[in-house]
Amino acid sequence: MKILTTENKKNEEFLRMPVSELDLSSADTKELRHLVKDMRATMNEANGVGLSANQVGISKRFFVAQLPATDEPQKFYAIFNPVITKRSKELETHEEGCLSIPLTFGDVERAHVITLEGHAVHGKKVVVKAQGLLARIFQHELDHLDGKLFVDVAKNVRKHSLEDETPHSGEI
Ligand code: ZN
Repeated sequence: MKILTTENKKNEEFLRMPVSELDLSSADTKELRHLVKDMRATMNEANGVGLSANQVGISKRFFVAQLPATDEPQKFYAIFNPVITKRSKELETHEEGCLSIPLTFGDVERAHVITLEGHAVHGKKVVVKAQGLLARIFQHELDHLDGKLFVDVAKNVRKHSLEDETPHSGEI
């Protein structure tokens, strides 16, 4: 799958459109499973840690996420109609990047712990309490589905050249 980036104005307009809720009861589960599989492969190939459906041109309210291999547990998530129902008062600022905004990094303040509710592909309710990087990924993906990009809220936004080999946190 091709990841849309803000380097193309039409794609940026699409990325900035909020995605409405998906009616899972009438959705084609087989089609959704295929999309999840393709998005997972696309995310892994791009060395990303999260990818929302609208980043690959699909107006459906869900995302996939997986922590980097060095983290435990390395669980894979595919969450439909996600909603953040709780955010800790404790905030954390960390560097973020985005697969849709190549070679760009910035510092973003996010809640340290959140509770995310949503549904699995077959409709079963899912509740995940996440902290640290996973909480950050979920908040970043929710923003994508609401048509927001991290550079709108990031501080100290910086561009890196392709030759720059400084390690960065995975792009989301
Ligand atoms: Zn992103």
